[in-house]
Amino acid sequence: MKSSDDSILENSSKNSDTLPEKGKKLEGKGTLFIISGPSGVGKGTLCKSIMDIGNISISVSCTTRSPREGEVDGVDYRFISVDEFNKKLDQSLFLEHALVHGDMYGTLRGEIDMVLESGDDMILEIDVQGAFQVKRMMDCVSVFVLPPSIEALEERIHKRNADSEEKIELRMRNAQYEISRAGEFDFSIVNDLLDNAVLDLKKIIIDNRNLSRRV
Ligand code: 5GP
Repeated sequence: MKSSDDSILENSSKNSDTLPEKGKKLEGKGTLFIISGPSGVGKGTLCKSIMDIGNISISVSCTTRSPREGEVDGVDYRFISVDEFNKKLDQSLFLEHALVHGDMYGTLRGEIDMVLESGDDMILEIDVQGAFQVKRMMDCVSVFVLPPSIEALEERIHKRNADSEEKIELRMRNAQYEISRAGEFDFSIVNDLLDNAVLDLKKIIIDNRNLSRRV
């Protein structure tokens, strides 16, 4: 497992110069990036913050959990019933799926292939169970996002004010397990200062582009 350091951050801005013009198509097939890490670590914000590198999409997962305040169906998640979820499962529409903190989550297969074939990269922001399913099936680059500390993670989950005490306890128990598997990912990033974590993730994606295809 590699982790970020100062030289990575320095190189990140240099490598940005070699990126093609925004919106211009990259050659070859895109890369699938798995971004995993405990709930509340800030994966969503981190992924949204790197979108300005262009030629990259974030997969919109299906979930049976209820929308939180401000979440939009089809943007944050596809919010579906357990029956609908099971129907999609029966039709083998999911690339991966998992029961996470008591709700079902799954990545639809079709959209992924379409984006990768077009030459763009794709991000899956999924839990570790889903990450390991995908890693077994497909070529991908996996990144684990760590909190600066367990205490900081708990504070963030509380501040989000989106879950009951019972759910927070469950999310924290699951976080310990997820963090114990961080070493099985290709890269790890500590999300202490968002700006640094954004540079780290951009660097991983840009380096992969420079290595795997001519831009
Ligand atoms: P939340 O309910 O906080 O949005 O997400 C809970 C957890 O489910 C997070 O760790 C998130 O990364 C994960 N998750 C979101 N979408 C998917 C998915 O499609 N598949 C899997 N396996 N996990 C997902």
